[in-house]
Amino acid sequence: MFFREILGQERPLNFLKTALRTGQIPHAYLFLGGKGVGKASTAQALAQALNCEQRLADQEACGQCASCRRFAGGNHPDFLVLSPLVDRVGAQIKIEQIRDLRRQLEFPPLAGPWRVTLIKPAEALNEPAANALLKTLEEPPSGNLIILTATTEHDLLPTIVSRCRRLAFLPLPPALVIQELIKRRGLGQTQASLVAALSGGSLGQALEAEFQDLVAQRDQAVAALEKLPQGTTAEILDWATAWTQKTADLENFLLLVRLWYRDLLALHFKVPRAILANQDRLEELTQAQTRIPAALLLQRLEALNRAQRQLRANLNVELTLDILGMQLQRPGFAGSDDF
Ligand SMILES: [Zn+2]
Repeated sequence: MFFREILGQERPLNFLKTALRTGQIPHAYLFLGGKGVGKASTAQALAQALNCEQRLADQEACGQCASCRRFAGGNHPDFLVLSPLVDRVGAQIKIEQIRDLRRQLEFPPLAGPWRVTLIKPAEALNEPAANALLKTLEEPPSGNLIILTATTEHDLLPTIVSRCRRLAFLPLPPALVIQELIKRRGLGQTQASLVAALSGGSLGQALEAEFQDLVAQRDQAVAALEKLPQGTTAEILDWATAWTQKTADLENFLLLVRLWYRDLLALHFKVPRAILANQDRLEELTQAQTRIPAALLLQRLEALNRAQRQLRANLNVELTLDILGMQLQRPGFAGSDDF
């Protein structure tokens, strides 16, 4: 993996290249950012550059030396990846894994000057494992760099965060994700726009997404939305109950609905059509736009945002969805913000 293969992350890459140039490598980095924006790839590119026998002037690994060839083959002995073990309790990184790691770190790197250990995602460290890691993070044996990845630092122990140099990875701009989807997945512009919008700036997620599944989900979400305004209160409560039972898909549903309303609003404001997510349903969008005034769309978007905030704060899912359903149906329905 090379730095040049990582897209849209100039700022963290420049920061790392400066560290390579000056030799100021900390004990540990914490790479923060959404899924699929290049954190693990960057960790690997950094490990390769640190171990390259003839690093280039721009701090990129050479790709030719014995160390680089091992990285290309995926079997460099000094690049370790710690990821969660799955069992009855869920997916966790456990204390045994950290103890094993500490035993390995006692020995110098096997092949080159640096051993790099990637721990991803750091949110998966259970508490005993996180506590066991603290001492290693503070003072790893020389020649060791530890890289943790996480979506945000809020789910980590503050003592872990404070021992790491933090580096933020931003969501990728939609145009870049669209371009890569067209190039790597052979999608058309219309398809790529929808997938990019839904992936929220994560190239990894965009490349993994199945376009047909997304379209089916989107069509279901829009069909449900069209029914809501005519529904009775009982139907809305049923709708909320149904979603309460499939919370795994809920986040995606809310995103799809938001993108639909966002597109309608964009049409009101006559923005260029190329930025619409649902370009494949332009005709329905145009018709719906004439029926729904912009002020109402703004109210619905606000209701969706509020619901999403409450769900993220783990407030009562069913009650949140009851109120969301009512607000989508009857604008001005006053749900309380602080139940
Ligand atoms: Zn090399």
